[in-house]
Amino acid sequence: MYAYVGGNPVNYTDPWGLRIRISDQSGRSHDINPNRVVGMAIVQIMNNPELKGWFDSMLAKKGETISNILTGKHDVTLTIYPGGLSDFIGETRCDGFFPETRNDIPNMSIGLNADVFDYSWWHTDAGDEQNAASWFIHELGHYVDAYTLDKNPGIETGEHLETLIKW
Ligand SMILES: [Zn+2]
Repeated sequence: MYAYVGGNPVNYTDPWGLRIRISDQSGRSHDINPNRVVGMAIVQIMNNPELKGWFDSMLAKKGETISNILTGKHDVTLTIYPGGLSDFIGETRCDGFFPETRNDIPNMSIGLNADVFDYSWWHTDAGDEQNAASWFIHELGHYVDAYTLDKNPGIETGEHLETLIKW
């Protein structure tokens, strides 16, 4: 169903049937398909024991697993906001947990700047897709922190998770 060639997935078909809801508020067309980016992130998490282990150990506090949270049993929405270079690249909104958060995405949702889904001059096309998927994993980490912890962990969970990603 799924194979690696030279360390790169030959396709990003999600063999687990997992799902994240995508709400595109940007009104823009994208060079990079957000569904494909989410699929890449899911494959990365499910095939990376360190990454999956972090999510599962956190979610165990709520009796859940990362599989649950990605199947729709526990819906998570990715909102793509219009963005712009001076705006946040990604922002997870969780009222009462993250003090500084944007209010133009729904509470308890993950937001990514539409610019994340554009090809950029400093990456190859493949690098841009991986970069976008890495940002999604970064923000999903913040979401899981907010969902599973009583207070802000005070560390940059997203950056920590990015160090675990192996493309
Ligand atoms: Zn972060």
